[in-house]
Amino acid sequence: MPAIDLCIRGATVVLPEGIRKISLAIDQGKVVDHRETEAKNVVDAEGLTLLPGAVDAHVHYNEPGREEWEGWTTGSRASRAGGATTVIEMPLNALPPTLDADSFSKKRAVAEKKSCVDFALWGGITPLNLGKLPELAHAGVIGFKAFMVDSGTPDFPGSDPATLKQGMSAAAKLGLPVAVHAESPDPIRHRTEEIRHKGGTSVRDYLSSRPIETELEAIRLACELAGETRCRLHIVHVSCPEGIDEIQKARRAGVDVTAETCPHYLVLTDEDMVRIGTPAKCAPPLRSATAQRGLLQKIHQGEVHTIGSDHSPSPPSMKADPDFFNVWGGIAGCQHMIPLLFSAGLSPTQIARLTSENPARRFGLYPRKGSLEIGSDADFLLVRTGVTDEVRAQDLLTTHPITPYLGIKLSARVEQVAVRGCFQPTAGQFLAPLLSQ
Ligand SMILES: [Zn+2]
Repeated sequence: MPAIDLCIRGATVVLPEGIRKISLAIDQGKVVDHRETEAKNVVDAEGLTLLPGAVDAHVHYNEPGREEWEGWTTGSRASRAGGATTVIEMPLNALPPTLDADSFSKKRAVAEKKSCVDFALWGGITPLNLGKLPELAHAGVIGFKAFMVDSGTPDFPGSDPATLKQGMSAAAKLGLPVAVHAESPDPIRHRTEEIRHKGGTSVRDYLSSRPIETELEAIRLACELAGETRCRLHIVHVSCPEGIDEIQKARRAGVDVTAETCPHYLVLTDEDMVRIGTPAKCAPPLRSATAQRGLLQKIHQGEVHTIGSDHSPSPPSMKADPDFFNVWGGIAGCQHMIPLLFSAGLSPTQIARLTSENPARRFGLYPRKGSLEIGSDADFLLVRTGVTDEVRAQDLLTTHPITPYLGIKLSARVEQVAVRGCFQPTAGQFLAPLLSQ
C-alpha cells in the first residue's frame, strides 16, 4: 500500500522564485516532497500549469445579515473556481459588521459551516468601535480595515483622520496591519454636490466626481499617519500608477506600507465603465487606458505587492438605479480572478507572488499558506493556458449572475483546485494570523 495520499506529476510548477518541472507529493493535506512518489492517487498533469492557491485578502460575502447579496456558500464557491484557496473576508456589508468579538464569532461560525475555502477575517476600525480592537485581535482577526470615505453602508462609518490615527496606534500595539480604502471624502463631496446641482446622474458624471487626485491625497494622509503611529499599512485597491508612486515614496521614507490592486483595474477602463454600466461601478472608479498601462508597468517593476479581487456583490435591485450615483459600488469578480490576471498579461510567477506568497506573508499566514514548500498546506490550482474561454452568465456561481466581465475572453482556465490536498470542496478552516511579535 503506497504510503502517501496524492502525487501530482508532469505539471509545470510555478514557485515565486521561478518555474520548475517537479512533482508534488501530498499527504494529510501537506506538501511532503517535490519528487515523484508512489501514492494512493496519482494525477497526471502533463500540459498543465500548477500554481499555489491564491490568498484573496479582499472579499465581501455579506453574511451573516445580508445573505441576499451573496453569502459564504456561493461566495466561497465562486472564489474557489477563480483560484482562491484562502480568502480574507472584509468586516463590512455583513450585518452586524465585524466590529467586536461578538460579531466576529457570529461570522466565524457561519463561515466554518459554509465556506469551501480556508478563511481569515478582517475586523473593522470605525468611530464606533475604537475600544474593541483588542478584543477583535484576541478573537483572531487578520488585521483591521478602515474607510477614509463613506463605505456605502451606514453601519460601517468612515474614519476621520483622528479616528484612523487612533485605530492605527491601537493596531500597531496589537501587532496587526491596517487596510485602508483611500479616497478623500471632502473633495469628492464637493465635486459630487457641484455635479448633482447641475443634474448630473451619468457614469461620466460619477467618474468625474472621483478623480485620481482624490485617491492620491488620501494615500498620502494614510501613509503619514502610518509613519507617525508605526502601523503596518496596506492600501487596498490602488487604481492608478500615481498611487503606487505615493506608496513607494512613503516606503523610501521608512513607512511599512504595501499596495494592493485588483483585476478590474488591470482589464477594464473608464470607457468600459461607460459601456458596461452598473456592473462595473466601483470606487475608486476604473481609470483611463493610460493609467491601466501605467499600473501594469508598476506590477512589472515589482512595486505592487498584492492582488485581491475586491469581490463586492449586491442584489440586482441595487444595480438598477438609472441615477449612477445611487447604484451600489462594487464589482463581483472573484470567480475569474486568476484567469483575468493571465489575460492582463501577468506572468505565472508574478501571479503566484502577488496573489499567493505576498498576501500570505503580509497577513501572517506564511508559510502554511502562500507556499508549495515541503510542510506547507497543499493548496494549489491546475491551470490550462492558451485557451480562449468566454465569461458567460450561465456559468456564474455567485448568488446573482452579475459581473462586468461578461463576454471577456480569458486566456487561462482553472481546471482543478485543491485545498489542503483535496479536490472536492470540503469545509474551510479558520486561520488566525501568526503574529510577528
Ligand atoms: Zn472592498
